[in-house]
Amino acid sequence: MAENSTSAATTLGRTLSKAIIPGNPLTNPLTYDETRQAIESGTTTLERVVEAHLKEIETKKHLNAFLSVLPERALVHARLIDSKLANGNAGALAGMVVAIKDVLNLKGAITTCGSKILRQYESIYTATAVQRLIDEDAVIVAKTNMDEFAMGSSTENSAYGSVLNPVDETRVPGGSSGGSCVAVAAGMAHAALGTDTGGSIRQPASFCGVVGLKPTYGRVSRYGMVALSSSFDQIGPFAATVADAARVLQVIAGHDERDSTSAKMPAPDFLSFLEKDVKGLKIGLPREAFGAGLDDEVHDAVNESVDALRSAGAEIVEITLPHSRYNISTYYILMTAEASSNLARYDGARYGYRSSGVRDLNEMYVKSRTEALGAETKRRIMLGTYVLSAGYYDAYYRKAQKVRRLIQEDFANAFRTVDCIVMPTSPTTAFKFGEKINDPLAMYLSDIYTVSANLAGIPAISVPCGVDGKGLPIGVQVLGQWFDEGTVLKVGDFLSVP
Ligand code: GLN
Repeated sequence: MAENSTSAATTLGRTLSKAIIPGNPLTNPLTYDETRQAIESGTTTLERVVEAHLKEIETKKHLNAFLSVLPERALVHARLIDSKLANGNAGALAGMVVAIKDVLNLKGAITTCGSKILRQYESIYTATAVQRLIDEDAVIVAKTNMDEFAMGSSTENSAYGSVLNPVDETRVPGGSSGGSCVAVAAGMAHAALGTDTGGSIRQPASFCGVVGLKPTYGRVSRYGMVALSSSFDQIGPFAATVADAARVLQVIAGHDERDSTSAKMPAPDFLSFLEKDVKGLKIGLPREAFGAGLDDEVHDAVNESVDALRSAGAEIVEITLPHSRYNISTYYILMTAEASSNLARYDGARYGYRSSGVRDLNEMYVKSRTEALGAETKRRIMLGTYVLSAGYYDAYYRKAQKVRRLIQEDFANAFRTVDCIVMPTSPTTAFKFGEKINDPLAMYLSDIYTVSANLAGIPAISVPCGVDGKGLPIGVQVLGQWFDEGTVLKVGDFLSVP
């Protein structure tokens, strides 16, 4: 962390991190690194660290970041890892306290996906990404609140109430992984897993002043993740630092025979990319991402990031992504189509909520779905069903597939001349509760800079790069070539202002 920064994000991080371990003799903010060192030097134990996080979770209950907290499980695990640490055989993430989005299965825990329809659904197996964290001795402390079935940009669509942005509690934390983001931003976990279908990791990260990484499509197994839009969804980390995001990615990345979309690509040593030298890198600025609709202060902060890269010897070139004006419409046609299909399984028969007093099968389907799904979910099921229906399939769904290809080609062309792309994460900083919830189009437009990485399947990170006049965090986004998370992490690390 920079020693003399006065940004609100830094102040927040420091205050909260300090509060993590009450009475701890260490005076510096306790990052994951510092926690691990403190444990290894005998200053504290993982059990105490987990207890302190649980206390933070209790104290900050009003933020509504969690749908279930798992104290017994976490403490048992912490004691086990303490003995492994003492014996010198602990895993790569020993000492790390992690929260996971409630769309990820953890055996024996409830997985609601932020929906009433799954409010009592107990997972019968554990998602691969979560299991890999457990196998490397991360402690899973809680499952986090989210927009229902990960549809939303503000976490206002959760059936269990909104999550508050810890920087300004009158504002949204972003979405749909709002709870995971706030868990990290408010010092209740070192890292968290979210999912990003159209920006749900990067946009909240930018709103709350933390790091959020969406890996390449196929980099992380999605086995055990409840599907929203299967050609877009990807699991990724939130963390306080780019290094911690890299550590988590290292563990969750890699082929999994249980997910046919997970790529057989070896994961490089991601941490080794974090040396600060960006000299000679060619960095593209898409003309289309700096136009109308971009808030001035966000624009200025991103420009400052670009200046810093230039001063450090990177070569900045203007590029064009000519089809980007179709990003939002293409995304919302394809994602709703896929979502309407994926969500067909919630019918009252197989999972969760079933309406009582129904007379026949059809009424059971209709009433169960009517009573237990929220307004945004219903809207998307209707939109998706419409674009897939026989008479409109060619006009909408097939056409959008073709445009998606053009958007992918725009990126492929750009990456012939640049190593990575830098642009804003979100056109604005965190907005107020209620500001966009009744205007779906305005809400969808807040994803304008994030959906392209999902349409193309490329990796992208959001890192904090400053604050606006109200002290609200601003995120800058780095997008890289397919499977080049290394460059994304390197440039993200260079740009990250704690
Ligand atoms: N905000 C976008 C949407 O509502 C992205 C959601 C996501 O990434 N899960 O579709």
